[in-house]
Amino acid sequence: MSDFKSLKLLPPIMEAIEKLGYKTPTPIQAKAIPHLMEGKDLLGIAQTGTGKTAAFSLPILHRLGSFKKKAKPARMRCLILTPTRELASQIDQNIQDYGKRINVKSTVIFGGVSQRPQVKAMSKGVDFLVATPGRLLDLMNQGHIYYDQLEVFVLDEADRMLDMGFFNDVKKVIAKLPKEKQTLLFSATMPKDISNLANSLLKNPVRVEVTPEASTVDKINQTINYVDRTNKPLLLKSILEDKSIKTMLVFTRTKHGANRVVKHLDRMSIASAAIHGNKSQGARERALSDFKSGKIRVLVATDIAARGIDVSNITHIVNYDLPDDPKSYVHRIGRTARAGREGIAISFCDSSERPLLKDIEKTIKQKIPVDESHALHGVPAQKPKGPVNKRPPKRDPKAKKEAIGDEKKKRPSQRRRKR
Ligand code: AMP
Repeated sequence: MSDFKSLKLLPPIMEAIEKLGYKTPTPIQAKAIPHLMEGKDLLGIAQTGTGKTAAFSLPILHRLGSFKKKAKPARMRCLILTPTRELASQIDQNIQDYGKRINVKSTVIFGGVSQRPQVKAMSKGVDFLVATPGRLLDLMNQGHIYYDQLEVFVLDEADRMLDMGFFNDVKKVIAKLPKEKQTLLFSATMPKDISNLANSLLKNPVRVEVTPEASTVDKINQTINYVDRTNKPLLLKSILEDKSIKTMLVFTRTKHGANRVVKHLDRMSIASAAIHGNKSQGARERALSDFKSGKIRVLVATDIAARGIDVSNITHIVNYDLPDDPKSYVHRIGRTARAGREGIAISFCDSSERPLLKDIEKTIKQKIPVDESHALHGVPAQKPKGPVNKRPPKRDPKAKKEAIGDEKKKRPSQRRRKR
């Protein structure tokens, strides 16, 4: 399947994707769309960056657009469940872009913001509802959402739902859905809980796998930079001296770690922003839009926050810290080399992280080449300037008195008296 024409999507959908500059379907689109247009269930094993959003939304748009039906108040014709609010907003935006010319109504529901506009949007009924599980459940329990007109259900990033502790909420939503529907489940990996869920949820599904489980995208040039922990800020700075790097996503293990990297970069006059769970929705959106517009070159993120970032031209990934879970390495570096582009992933590794590196290499079944030519290779730990994090020695009250006495001695008035 080499072009979109052979997929026989509705002409207004074709026009919209042409306008977006999509020339050829990505592998997951070529494999999934024909089956989905026949109404089959699907198990999609794919990471973000493979074009999976279009792979499911185009055929659903085709289906809903071919048989127009008005959704009643509080109802939707298609429900898409996704783990993060960023991802939810992006899927909603994609659907609006692809469906511009067939007049579909899509809305999004997630937590952390007022529920009032969401309830209002749902009160009119929609074609597409894109939601995160917690808020959806909340609105369901309040009687703002019903599923009796549901035709298609998409569970996106199922493994991440599990990682983020949303699995019970997801199951509660699924329990309320009608039996008769088309179901699509996407997951980058297939842990046991997900394959059990897939078995109970999907009816004779087509299985489409675009990259084998836990293998990394071939087009990514991966390297390991061994570095002392204290030298990581300088190493990042030295990499960023290459002005041709326009978009770099830096991963840290913790939210505080992300804030610290931004502070370090700030001191070196490199504009960056952090995106993580402690940031308000407004701050996350600002950081993302500054990054997309090129106002900042560096976005620093934790694993969970980064899942929803859809920036197609990230050229560099830096793993400032190695992740505890080796699968996160695959997700992280998958943020570059999206939609067929090439990408570079540089992982910093200090002595305490060697076991994590071993786990990653075992998971991806390959050794990551070590770059010994970087600026901080073999450079010993930096000595802290002054006593860092050390409490000042307890003062002896007698000594304090003496010190005050000495100070007094220096006063000009006293000196004058002495004279
Ligand atoms: P996704 O995996 O759905 O997050 O998509 C990753 C990126 O690829 C998004 O920025 C899409 O707009 C883009 N994309 C999806 N399908 C195509 C295509 N057939 N041609 C070019 N870009 C695409």
